[in-house]
Amino acid sequence: MKALEFPLIGTKKPGVTKKYDLNNPTSRNEYFEAKIGGEIKLLKKYLKDNTFIAFLLGKKNSGKGTYSVLFSEIFGNEYVAHVSVGDIVRDTHENWNEFVKSKDYIKLKKLYRGYISFDDAVDALLGRSTKTLLPTEFVLALLKLHISKLGKKAIFIDGLPRENDQVSYSLYFRDLINFRDDPDLFILIDIPESVIDERIKYRVVCPLCHSSRNLKLLPTSKIEYDKEKKEFYLICDNPNCEGARMQAKEGDNLGIGPIKVRLEKDEGILRSVFGLYGVPKILLRNHVPVDEAEKYFDKYEITPEYVFKLDGKKIKVEEKPWSVKDDNGVECYSLLAAPVVVALIKQLVEVLDL
Ligand SMILES: [Zn+2]
Repeated sequence: MKALEFPLIGTKKPGVTKKYDLNNPTSRNEYFEAKIGGEIKLLKKYLKDNTFIAFLLGKKNSGKGTYSVLFSEIFGNEYVAHVSVGDIVRDTHENWNEFVKSKDYIKLKKLYRGYISFDDAVDALLGRSTKTLLPTEFVLALLKLHISKLGKKAIFIDGLPRENDQVSYSLYFRDLINFRDDPDLFILIDIPESVIDERIKYRVVCPLCHSSRNLKLLPTSKIEYDKEKKEFYLICDNPNCEGARMQAKEGDNLGIGPIKVRLEKDEGILRSVFGLYGVPKILLRNHVPVDEAEKYFDKYEITPEYVFKLDGKKIKVEEKPWSVKDDNGVECYSLLAAPVVVALIKQLVEVLDL
C-alpha cells in the first residue's frame, strides 16, 4: 500500500533572503516574523477572544510535542496549552493516593460514564487488574477534568485518538467537554519511518533534566570525546545540570524495530482521520524530495547531519546534507520543526477563516 502523502507547502517568500539559525530562539523568532508575520498577527488577534481545539495526529516520535511547543513560543503559554493524554493518565496513576483525597476525585467520579463501573476503571488505571484495559470513557473523563482547569486557551491534544475506536469520539469531543462553539480541527503529520528510526537510534537524554537531543541530528553546544570507549558524547546545555553527560536509552539502538506494531496502528488511525468529513484538517509534511527542496525551502530549514572529528585535542563539528528514503522510496530531506510550524500557521489562518 502506498504511504499517505501530503501536499508540499513551501516557506519561500520574495525578499526574505536572510539566513536564520532555527536552533536559536531569538533568530527563530525573527524567522517566523519574516516568513509569516502577517499570519501571526491575525492569529494573535484571534486568540485574544477565541480559542480552538486541535488534535495532533502522527506516528510515535513524529514531533507532535515539538510543534506545539514552538506554537506556544510564538503565541504565549497564556493563550495555548498542550495536553498530553499519556502524561495525564500517568500523573493520575502515580499520584493516585493524593488524588483520591482531592476534590478532583469527586469531580471525576461525577464526570465518568461508561460500560464498566468507576471502581473497575480505577483498578484498570492502577494496573490492579490485568484483564481490564483502561476504558476510553475513563480517559475522556480525565481529559474533561483537566481541560476544565485550563481556562480560556487554545488546546493541542496529543494522544487522542490513540486507538481506532477513539476516532469517532474525537469527532464529538468538543461537544463532550462543552468547549463553547470554538472550532475543532485535526492536525495530521506525515513523516517517513526512516526519519523516526534515525531519531531514535541517535537519541540521547540528560539523566538530570531529561531533555532529549540527538548525536547525529541535534547536538548540544558542547561535545566531548570518551577516549576509552572511543566515542563522542554530548554535554547537557542546561546550566542547572552542571555538565551532565547525555546518555542513550536502552534499546534505542534498535530504532523503530520494537515499535513497528505501534507505527502500523498509528498509520491506520491517520488513514481513518484523513478520510473523515466535516472536521477541518491541517496536513503537515516533515519531508521534501531532494529534487524539489530548493523550489520550496531555504537550505537552513533542512535538517543537516552533524559529523564530529578529532583535530588534535579539539573537536571539529561539520555539517553535511542528510537525506533518507521516505516510505514510498523517494530520496528526501527532513525539515526542521520551524518550517513545519510555518505550514501549520498558514493553514490554521485558512481553517479559522481569518
Ligand atoms: Zn540536563
